[in-house]
Amino acid sequence: MYDLCIIGGGASGLSCAIQAGRLGLKVLLIDKNNKLGKKLYATGNGKCNLTNSNISYEKHYYSSSNNSCIFLTKALENAYNPKEPNQQIIDFVDSLGINTFEDNNYIYPSSAQASSVVWAMLDELKHYNVDILSNTEITSIEGKYPFFIIKAENKAYKASQMVLSCGGAAYKSLGGTYSGYNLAKSMGHNVVSVRPALCGLCVIEDVTDIAGVRANANICLLNNNEIICSSKGELQLTKQGLSGICIFEISSWAGKLINQGITPQVNVSFIDDDTYNQLIDKIKSNNISHRTIIGFLNGYVNDKLAQYVCSINNVDGKKKAMEISQEVLISLISSLHGMMFNVSELYDMEQAQVTAGGVNIDEINPITMESKLVNGLYITGELLDIDGICGGYNLTFAMLTGIKAGKSIYDKIKSN
Ligand SMILES: Cc1cc2nc3c(=O)[nH]c(=O)nc-3n(C[C@H](O)[C@H](O)[C@H](O)COP(=O)(O)OP(=O)(O)OC[C@H]3O[C@@H](n4cnc5c(N)ncnc54)[C@H](O)[C@@H]3O)c2cc1C
Repeated sequence: MYDLCIIGGGASGLSCAIQAGRLGLKVLLIDKNNKLGKKLYATGNGKCNLTNSNISYEKHYYSSSNNSCIFLTKALENAYNPKEPNQQIIDFVDSLGINTFEDNNYIYPSSAQASSVVWAMLDELKHYNVDILSNTEITSIEGKYPFFIIKAENKAYKASQMVLSCGGAAYKSLGGTYSGYNLAKSMGHNVVSVRPALCGLCVIEDVTDIAGVRANANICLLNNNEIICSSKGELQLTKQGLSGICIFEISSWAGKLINQGITPQVNVSFIDDDTYNQLIDKIKSNNISHRTIIGFLNGYVNDKLAQYVCSINNVDGKKKAMEISQEVLISLISSLHGMMFNVSELYDMEQAQVTAGGVNIDEINPITMESKLVNGLYITGELLDIDGICGGYNLTFAMLTGIKAGKSIYDKIKSN
């Protein structure tokens, strides 16, 4: 009989197991994958963006709950280490022997290798004699506190308390699954509908001619001309639509609108305001190049984009820029300054870095991560209805909620 059984050996489950193991609990950690931390190895392009030195609950996390900021404040605060969440993560990995460095607020292990974090975690589990079962998918949980029976095909395990750290459905090839949602539902929890997040956006317009173009851009997500959120950075145009980190950052909002039956729009500025104004001045003073329109525009943007903007404005780009009217040139420049795309859907789960939606956080006590519905059950990490933007916010949430559950389970045992 184990003190606790953790289902899911990702960032959250591993952190929980380490915390509980260090406190001397008898821990069983189960994962369906052949190796633990499979997703963790792939994080931050293999560098593992652990956390961020600028964390705002309002700006960097999404949830369907109106109480999400209060929830996050309590869930990510630690009475025993009353520091900012990023510092708690730095301290935690430091306790595993992992040094960190900061690059533009993003915090990584000094090795710049996600594997160094996974290996340090696994060494810690070994040191504290945590029992690990890989290649084992849990299909049902029976019984109740303090006697849960955790079932896999032809096998059953017993534990007095339970942690669901099963992650979300994103990136199936790295372990993403709906299994955790089904287990939570089977125990009485409500699951807010799940959808891909931190992913690209499919658009209604045919963008195959500009697929492959990468360009720095300012992006706004709109609902009926109202700006919902904005972002900037390298935009990647693909056959399906829009991708790149600046798009990932608006994808959770776009998904929310699509779920409400709305077709959101993305306004892309391929040229900034200063460049736009300079170009307008040039055109108005007839100070334009003797080159073709495409050649002229190619001085500012990618040539494929220059051709595309001509074709959507029905302009022959091979004509000399000097030979067409100022109005037409201004309309081309205006298109580059504010090109509108209609979003049809999100990229699919396999191309999403995280899952939005999940177990309703109003059913979880953020001070302990224990379920308010099932005594002795704890739910942590991406399985919950919280998703962060790019920059270390998701690992921070996964790891700190896992650590919190491990400590709470210990406290509950000691208080009985
Ligand atoms: C490519 C990629 C890059 C990313 N980069 C970053 C980054 O740099 N920084 C950042 O903050 N976030 C990043 N993320 C997001 C981050 O990795 C996740 O939010 C985080 O790993 C979630 O941790 P978790 O423990 O909750 O879930 P996971 O890490 O998904 O772990 C859940 C585990 O549970 C197991 N499991 C599920 N159901 C069962 C079951 N029934 N029985 C047994 N085992 C089960 C799964 O196999 C899995 O191993 C990235 C995600 C991806 C896909």
